[in-house]
Amino acid sequence: MNSPAFEQLRAALQGELITPQDPEYDVRRKVFNAMIDRRPAAIARCRGTADVVAALAFAREQGLAVGVRGGGHSIAGHGTCDGGLLIDMSLMRGVRVDPVRGTVRVEAGATLGDVDRETQLHGLAVPSGQVSETGIAGLTLSGGMGMLQRKYGLTCDNLLSVDMVTVSGELVVADAGNNPELFWALRGGGGNFGVVTSFEFQAHPVGPMMLAGIVAYPVEEAPAVLEFLHEQIADTPDELSTDVVFLRVPSLEFFPAEHAGRPVVAFFLRYAGAVDDGWAAVERFRTFGDPLVDMIAPMPLVDVQSMLDPANPRDHQQYWTSEFLPEFGRAERATVARIGADLPSAETVMQVIPFDAAPTRVAADATAFAHREESWLIHIVGQWADPADNERCRSWVRQAGADLRAFGTGAAYLNLVSEDDADMRVNAFWNDARLRRLARVKAQYDPDNLLRFNHNIPPARAGEDR
Ligand SMILES: Cc1cc2nc3c(=O)[nH]c(=O)nc-3n(C[C@H](O)[C@H](O)[C@H](O)COP(=O)(O)OP(=O)(O)OC[C@H]3O[C@@H](n4cnc5c(N)ncnc54)[C@H](O)[C@@H]3O)c2cc1C
Repeated sequence: MNSPAFEQLRAALQGELITPQDPEYDVRRKVFNAMIDRRPAAIARCRGTADVVAALAFAREQGLAVGVRGGGHSIAGHGTCDGGLLIDMSLMRGVRVDPVRGTVRVEAGATLGDVDRETQLHGLAVPSGQVSETGIAGLTLSGGMGMLQRKYGLTCDNLLSVDMVTVSGELVVADAGNNPELFWALRGGGGNFGVVTSFEFQAHPVGPMMLAGIVAYPVEEAPAVLEFLHEQIADTPDELSTDVVFLRVPSLEFFPAEHAGRPVVAFFLRYAGAVDDGWAAVERFRTFGDPLVDMIAPMPLVDVQSMLDPANPRDHQQYWTSEFLPEFGRAERATVARIGADLPSAETVMQVIPFDAAPTRVAADATAFAHREESWLIHIVGQWADPADNERCRSWVRQAGADLRAFGTGAAYLNLVSEDDADMRVNAFWNDARLRRLARVKAQYDPDNLLRFNHNIPPARAGEDR
């Protein structure tokens, strides 16, 4: 790439342009998953919409594909690219709450923690994910599951409006009244359609204090714990999110030291309502069996939303898989319990997430997010520090994924899969008709597939079912 062209782009940006010659290049090209090692031709760190427009114009002129980074947390490494222009939104993190309307406008480089911090000043929250450093952009565009989802749905279900720059440099608004087909696609179709500069969300009155925490048992109790959750979930109020987590104790600092290193299975409970009502809702989970620890307590929502941060360290090797299981009968539970008792590293975690309540009450074709059936999402967070363990741990996660897939359809939550798992998963997640509809939107907004470092939807070709 010729450097005068880069100098022109550098001069046109209010933000920064980082090229391979810059000392910062190696730091700036890094993403959360240390297994990803990619080298963009340049990184445009944008400070506003005009910077995004300038970067896209440069990419078009130079024939460069475009990568987009929000929080850089894509496990598949979609927050960076080899050879393309990486548009890095992480300098654009503004959050503005409208307490009268109960809405919040969020710039696309914000993290979940940025959003919680500002909304909580008004006793409001947007349902989002479970780790505060995750980017709101990648999370929302592919769905967004987390702490408040049983009551308030997915993050994309709370999206009211999007500001986006198309690859041809046009500024568009997508909401229920403007560009509704694009708005449909942006709620689950990922980063395929343009560069989003900001989102507007509906927020809800939750917090500042919430009842939450973990009730943990020796991992040998997993079959009984899973059976209990399976029995109880239909009767559990929407306010109570109830996952089961398998982990080894050192990965969460707040466990008592005497249990260090011990594999455990735990209810991970969060009540999105008044603390006093929460005690009644969590009671049966606290009195089930003989827990090793019961750490349920009122705590600030921002602490709940960042409780798992220490269990997801930066600079670790990450290899993830997930699977929606339509049923959670005896055979499924036995397989999950077996996998959870044998995690391959101290940092690896497995989560069992009932996918029910609010997200399943949204009509199947209302958004591009393709999975609305009641089911059980099993998420294996394979992580370890030493690259020498890559082969062993990755094989373990792959085998566990294959064992789970025997009970599923291949449909996974795309935000939770590693790259080599992704191609087959794109087709399995978006069924044929939905994929064709997404391909038509893609053809309208990005006909040359400039934005292809993502769970890619190839644009429909002229004459092809358009
Ligand atoms: C530790 C950890 C915890 C997680 N927990 C959860 C969870 O609880 N719930 C959940 O749902 N997911 C969770 N995830 C998955 C997460 O939602 C995805 O990794 C998501 O991609 C992260 O968004 P990001 O902006 O950080 O990603 P990035 O890596 O920055 O971007 C990923 C992709 O998003 C798209 N994108 C990003 N910004 C833009 C933009 N401005 N315009 C257009 N496209 C854009 C692009 O296609 C990009 O390639 C977690 C991930 C990690 C690593």
